[in-house]
Amino acid sequence: MSSARSIVEDLDLEVEFDAPIGAEMTWYKVGGRADVLVRPRSVEALCSLMRRCNETGTTARVLGSGANLLIADEGVDGIVIHLDHAAFREVSTIHRHRVHRAGVEGRAGDAMRVMAGKSLERLVMSAATQGLSGIECMAGVPASVGGAIRMNAGGKFGCIGDAVVAVGCINLNGDLVVHEGPDVTFEYRRCSIIDPVILWTELALTADDPARTHAKVKEIFAYKKQSQPMAANSAGCVFRNPPASDGSGRLVSAGELIDRAGLKGYSVGGASISERHANFFTAEPGTSANDIIALIDHAAKVVAEHSGYELVREVVVWKRH
Ligand SMILES: Cc1cc2nc3c(=O)[nH]c(=O)nc-3n(C[C@H](O)[C@H](O)[C@H](O)COP(=O)(O)OP(=O)(O)OC[C@H]3O[C@@H](n4cnc5c(N)ncnc54)[C@H](O)[C@@H]3O)c2cc1C
Repeated sequence: MSSARSIVEDLDLEVEFDAPIGAEMTWYKVGGRADVLVRPRSVEALCSLMRRCNETGTTARVLGSGANLLIADEGVDGIVIHLDHAAFREVSTIHRHRVHRAGVEGRAGDAMRVMAGKSLERLVMSAATQGLSGIECMAGVPASVGGAIRMNAGGKFGCIGDAVVAVGCINLNGDLVVHEGPDVTFEYRRCSIIDPVILWTELALTADDPARTHAKVKEIFAYKKQSQPMAANSAGCVFRNPPASDGSGRLVSAGELIDRAGLKGYSVGGASISERHANFFTAEPGTSANDIIALIDHAAKVVAEHSGYELVREVVVWKRH
C-alpha cells in the first residue's frame, strides 16, 4: 500500500484508504474493500496517475456504477479509480460535419460528447426529454457511460455501440487517445478498446418528437421490469450467451440453459438463481461474495453436464493478485 500512497499523494484527487467498495459501490452490495480508492478532480490528474501506475507496476482498476462487478470478500489491492467528480460527468454538444462509423457512416449533425462518469440512466432520460433519439434501447440498464461502453451494454432492443461515433481514452502511458471510424468496433457485450480508461464517448443522436422518445423509453423499461428482477441485488446477467454448437453463429440464451438444467431457485447461502430470469443471480443482504462465486461455479458445472455448453462469465470479478 505504501507505493500506492506515494503515487497518489501529490495529485489533484481525493483519496480514501480501506474503502468499502463492495458493500457500498456495487449493485450486489457484497464483497470487500479497496486498499486505495481515488476520485480524480481533473483529467490531467488522472493521466498522471495512469502514467505513475504504469511506471511502478501498480494495478489500476476503474469502477463505474458497479452494476456488472463482484468484489471478492478479501477486497482488492492496487488503486481503484472512481470517476464521479463533476469533470467526469459533463455532457456537451459537438457539431460533426460527417460521422464515420459502419452503420452510421455519412450521418452529419450534432453529436453528444459524454464523459465516462455520467450516469447512463440519467443520460437516457435527459435525451428522451430533449427528443434526442438513439439510446432509448438503454432504458433500465444501470451503468456509468464508461462501463456501458466497456461492456457494450444493451440487449433485445439494441446496444450502446450502435450510437457511438468516437471514444476518448487514456492509454497505459497516461496519454489521451481517440478511437473513431473502423478503429472502434462493438460486438455482443464487448468493445475493441484495450486502453485502461474510457474517458468520454461521442454519441450520434437524431432529433425526434419528445413524446415518442419518452414513450419508447417507458415501453423498454416496462419490458425489462417484467422480465428481470430489477429491484433485487444483482449484477444483471451472470453469463454470456454462448454461440450455438451447430456453428450457425446464433447465440443461445444462457438463462434458458440454466432453466433447462433445473436450476431456477437454486441457492448457496444468501445467493439465489432468480425464478424470474435464470441468468440473474440475486443476493440477500449479508451474502458473501464467496457464496455468489460458488453459485456461479455450480451453475456452470451443472449446465456443462446437462447440455454440453461451457458458460463464460459476463460479471467481472475483482480479487487481490
Ligand atoms: C438490475 C441490472 C440490470 C442489468 N441489465 C443489463 C442489460 O439489460 N444489458 C446489459 O448489457 N447489462 C445489464 N446489466 C449489467 C450492467 O448494467 C452493464 O454491464 C453495465 O455496462 C455496467 O456498467 P458499470 O458502469 O456499472 O460498470 P462496472 O460494473 O462498474 O464495471 C464493469 C467493467 O467495466 C470497466 N469500466 C467501468 N468504467 C470504465 C471506464 N470509464 N474505463 C474503463 N473501464 C471501465 C470496469 O473496470 C469493469 O471491468 C444489468 C445490471 C443490473 C444490476
